[in-house]
Amino acid sequence: MLHNIQLNDLPADGRLFEGEIRIDCFAVEGPGAPRFKPPLNFSLNVRVDGPDIIVDGSISALFDLQCARCAAWFPYDAGQDEFEAIEPRDGASTLDLTALMREHTLLALPGYPRCEESNVESRVCPEADRFAPDSDYTPLSDDETLTPPQRDVWGALDRINPDPGSQDPPNS
Ligand SMILES: [Zn+2]
Repeated sequence: MLHNIQLNDLPADGRLFEGEIRIDCFAVEGPGAPRFKPPLNFSLNVRVDGPDIIVDGSISALFDLQCARCAAWFPYDAGQDEFEAIEPRDGASTLDLTALMREHTLLALPGYPRCEESNVESRVCPEADRFAPDSDYTPLSDDETLTPPQRDVWGALDRINPDPGSQDPPNS
């Protein structure tokens, strides 16, 4: 069983465990929580190396995630073709491979999902413009960018003696 892999019985170079899990082993609760779309497919070699348990191979796991910006649900593949986990053995005689896959797959999900990051289908988030990343902001003008730290002094002077020809007010 995947929940109860006997570490003492493994050959020196490990043993391959393959299969699929059709139940929702993730059971993430909550209105906007990731929704697992079974099955989870895996092909993993498990071996013991000194104090460590080493699991490597591949996992595929599809989820529906809710976009943090537009709230649409979109598909996301949290699978990893080069999955590798190194866990301290801590004297354990068994390994719960299902729990390990669950933990590492959930960690592979984006913490702030955006639908345009779907790696299953190409999307454009309709709300992308509302919360543009900092790098996309356009400076108001060259004056803004080059304003020295004393800008408040110059701003105060501008208010006393406005000169519309040199600098547009920010709300015009
Ligand atoms: Zn979106």
